[in-house]
Amino acid sequence: MMQLFIPLNFLGFVYREIRGALANIERMFSLLDKVPAIQDIPSASNVTPTQGELAFNHICFNYDERSILKDVSFSIPAGQKVAVVGESGAGKSTLIKLLFRFYDVDSGLITIDGHDIKQLTQQALRQSIAIVPQDTVLFNDTIYNNILYGQPTATDEALKEAVHLANLTDFIESLPQKWQTKVGERGLKLSGGEKQRVSIARAILKATPILVFDEATSSLDSQSEQAILSALKVAAKGHTSLVVAHRLSTIVDADKIVVLSEGRIAEQGTHKALLSQNGVYAKLWRIQNEQTITH
Ligand code: ADP
Ligand code: MG
Repeated sequence: MMQLFIPLNFLGFVYREIRGALANIERMFSLLDKVPAIQDIPSASNVTPTQGELAFNHICFNYDERSILKDVSFSIPAGQKVAVVGESGAGKSTLIKLLFRFYDVDSGLITIDGHDIKQLTQQALRQSIAIVPQDTVLFNDTIYNNILYGQPTATDEALKEAVHLANLTDFIESLPQKWQTKVGERGLKLSGGEKQRVSIARAILKATPILVFDEATSSLDSQSEQAILSALKVAAKGHTSLVVAHRLSTIVDADKIVVLSEGRIAEQGTHKALLSQNGVYAKLWRIQNEQTITH
């Protein structure tokens, strides 16, 4: 019996390994499929911007024939926080993809520290921005390596500090093998909130002038929402931050709120100014507050 068991077990192991590898390759290809290769121009500068002043100037963008963003202009002075809100499909995530140059704008300019991002190498550009995406991808590896991915040359001390600031220390201490616990599809599955905090730790470690946060749409329990928000506040300190928000309560403190509607800017201003304007934002605010009270 033993003789039979071992090979079967082993085959099962091989099968799981191959299936896991295929799933990763598939994901990679589907990503590549969607992302046409963007080329650096020959004279592109390899100097990473350090201030983090960000501006979208008259951005227009189409997917195929469909116009997605229409004449979008707003700017973020270095160190400030701007939130982008709007209904699903308004074009919020597309703005982030354009900033990261997954696609190029059809017209208009995106600038960082006054430089058109097309004049930078993609490497220099991506070194200046950390993204906390809506849905964080974890590799099938230890939690340690998953966080170090933000900055592979970071010291253990810096890593521990980032984890502390991202409110993850207690969580990691509670794992069966602590830092060496395997996570991802073939390891421990993390909740949405925990994954976002891993992303925040990666972002803190990367220490870029610009931080982009695409808030998860799925509702988190209020405890993990609070943990994420306080981690984010720490991460954003001294950095320029662009936050795509679904829960307006998370962005009342923003220096400016940009309201997108069907790819256009409907309004922009502070929370207070937009409320007194009594337009789209004020309406969204009322709806969300009613939902909070009734739920
Ligand atoms: P939001 O983040 O505000 O919900 P998105 O920026 O993701 O909106 O999407 C804006 C619009 O662009 C939507 O109508 C969406 O269907 C469309 N869209 C998003 N990604 C693609 C794509 N890769 N190809 C074609 N259309 C897309
Ligand atoms: Mg989105």
